[in-house]
Amino acid sequence: MNCNIAVIKGDGIGPEVVTEAMKVLDAVGKKYGHTFNYEQLLMGGCSIDKYGEPLTDETVAIAKTKDAVLLGSIGGNTQTSPWYKLPPNKRPEAGLLKIRKELGLFANLRPAYLYPELKEACPLKESVAERGFDMMIMRELTGGLYFGDRYTKEVDGVMTAVDTLTYNENEIRRIAVKGFDIAMKRRKKVTLVDKANVLDSSRLWRKVTEEVAKDYPEVTYETMLVDNAAMQLVKDPAQFDVMLTENMFGDILSDEASMITGSIGMLSSASLNETKFGLYEPSGGSAPDIAGQNIANPIATILSAAMMLKFTFDLDKEADAIENAVKKVLEEGYRTIDIAKPGEPQVKCDEMGTLIAERV
Ligand code: NAD
Repeated sequence: MNCNIAVIKGDGIGPEVVTEAMKVLDAVGKKYGHTFNYEQLLMGGCSIDKYGEPLTDETVAIAKTKDAVLLGSIGGNTQTSPWYKLPPNKRPEAGLLKIRKELGLFANLRPAYLYPELKEACPLKESVAERGFDMMIMRELTGGLYFGDRYTKEVDGVMTAVDTLTYNENEIRRIAVKGFDIAMKRRKKVTLVDKANVLDSSRLWRKVTEEVAKDYPEVTYETMLVDNAAMQLVKDPAQFDVMLTENMFGDILSDEASMITGSIGMLSSASLNETKFGLYEPSGGSAPDIAGQNIANPIATILSAAMMLKFTFDLDKEADAIENAVKKVLEEGYRTIDIAKPGEPQVKCDEMGTLIAERV
């Protein structure tokens, strides 16, 4: 297969970790007979330095001609970097918001998987961590409270703020379909998280998702109220496979799920639109504190590349090869600085990339 990928290395540790993900993709290409064509583009601080803005229209236009975007991370030290003296719409993060919007990325996927080798980093009780967990948080990204009308005004002499939570059935259906499609590639269970005992929007989510569920008889479908879901995530995370939810609930629950895995350097993510197109990036930021030292953990970005193989290119076997290679290096005891226990030997970012590429 010929795969055309826009590569945005970005700022901070971005170039270091993306280079390792490309190394692993090339190893997959060699073994399974695929060609990965990369076109490198700028976004974030590096784009501000070169073009005066965090994401140019030309860059967006090129990205749209590709099958997928592989992104590192963008941004710098928010206290000291001159990028943060610019108005908000000219700062690095504005590039990220613009590309998500321009590419219509409405479904955000964040896997939370506990590697048995790293379970000591899990902040949950040993009896819970022992059972492990492997879930996919699927968050709606372009609707709901964060995009509804909002205003603050004085009503009868009292300052009053209003935020509007709006979803239409089409917005719900398109992400529900994605959620069930993805469940079919996993353990075939979908949990819709909502607040249907209170919110009309949640009741519409339930109605539409139930309709979609009928087309997937193999998938076990359940609903859970968001307050209960927040508790269940720490009590019994092993019960979840795909957790489907709206924007704000997903924002909060995906961070909670990330936290219980124990390491930000291991967490991949994908943002998808209605086609097979996706943007794949690590969940962490540009880590300016460790940038340029070749010590960042590239695994989150490498696993994001595996998600790209699975969701954009339908190369499931190849994606599994990457995930298994990651498991293997961990089993063999290789650790970067963020996942090493005190006194444990550490490998550099590029060594970790090579070790994984060799095991693909
Ligand atoms: P961060 O995720 O960059 O760093 C938090 C901590 O985690 C740091 O100690 C860092 O060293 C560590 N860390 C993160 N990724 C790591 C990795 N792969 N290996 C080892 N350690 C890792 O968050 P922050 O410090 O709050 O933000 C730094 C910059 O990143 C800011 O400019 C922020 O706006 C930006 N940011 C960008 C994105 C993105 O590009 N999607 C996301 C979050 C933050």
